Amino acid sequence: ADPEARALAEKLAAYRGVWVFVEQTEGEPARVSWELMGKGRELADTLGVPLSAVVVGSRVEELCYESFCYGADQAYLVDEPVFRHYRTEAYLKAVCRMIDDYRPEIVLMGATGLGRDLAGAVATVVGTGLTADCTGLGIDDKRNLMQTRPAFGGNIMATIMCDRFRPQMATVRPHVMPLPERVAGSSGTVIRLRSKVREEDILTKVLEIVSDRNKDQVDVAGAEFIVSGGRGMMGKENFVLLQELADELGGVVGASRSAVDAGWMPHERQVGQTGKTVRPKIYIACGISGAIQHLVGMQDSDVIIAINRDPEAPIFEVAHLGIVGDLFQVVPALTERLRSL
Ligand code: FAD
Repeated sequence: ADPEARALAEKLAAYRGVWVFVEQTEGEPARVSWELMGKGRELADTLGVPLSAVVVGSRVEELCYESFCYGADQAYLVDEPVFRHYRTEAYLKAVCRMIDDYRPEIVLMGATGLGRDLAGAVATVVGTGLTADCTGLGIDDKRNLMQTRPAFGGNIMATIMCDRFRPQMATVRPHVMPLPERVAGSSGTVIRLRSKVREEDILTKVLEIVSDRNKDQVDVAGAEFIVSGGRGMMGKENFVLLQELADELGGVVGASRSAVDAGWMPHERQVGQTGKTVRPKIYIACGISGAIQHLVGMQDSDVIIAINRDPEAPIFEVAHLGIVGDLFQVVPALTERLRSL
């Protein structure tokens, strides 16, 4: 056999196991970490290797036990005061050292602000590739990670492989993967590590944390019921119709990019490729045509209801229930009906 190919195969084979980085803020885990744990379990089972949680922070040991409930076999824990607040330099050093010492073949992180920052830095330092914002992950017949994500403005899906380097690294946005069932009382092994990161070596100091969450901000990504409006809403003032329906359902109002670009809704309500990815129980699309960039953000909703006066609108291809009609009649009628229940 080709000696170069053999050397590469040997280098790759030295890496084993699937890791999921457990993101936390002051000990509070990010839900996306458990979503990834579910996917990580699947990948680890396909490969026949252990699934490990990577827990870095201060007073975060509890998260190791929580990770077992979501499917991890073991957890690598670095628990030191220097990791109380996220700082790239400190976390980077800790995670890279773990990778050097334990050599996982796959490392997954949430595509959150923190995850995007850390994953990019880690991939650079350990000298491997990173596929950001994956929407699908699988294993091919050569045991490589197949990382699928939208490309060219969502018009095609690209499958990206990292077949010469390890670990294979990917980030996945919140709500793209389903949350696995939590099995209380599951057990696993906690592997405690010392980081050697010293406070005096970290240039960044956290002086104060100021929350940017203003009271009226609505969490579209986490909502169970979403009523979204598009260009068909014809104007900002008409969104009150959607708000009334959303209130009846105990949900929130979302929007397509056209509605956001028109200034009818703030950007944090935008659903889609350049907005939020949502996975509610019910998604009601009102006056939204169903462009691919919108669909990638909501097509995994449990039930999709589309209201559009154009029977040919692509939104009907993903809708479970479609109403062909004028939303200015249909939406108030639905709200009335719900009120009368
Ligand atoms: P239109 O496509 O104009 O659809 C309006 C619909 O309303 C039509 O189907 C019409 O039949 C219906 N309608 C009109 N009046 C009524 C009525 N009275 N009753 C019932 N139905 C009615 N888009 C997103 O949404 N999210 C994204 O994150 C996003 N990211 C993008 C990223 C890139 C790189 C690009 C290139 C585009 C992106 N887009 C995104 C834009 C996307 O391509 C579409 O342009 C957009 O989603 C269209 O919005 P819309 O469905 O509201 O408007």
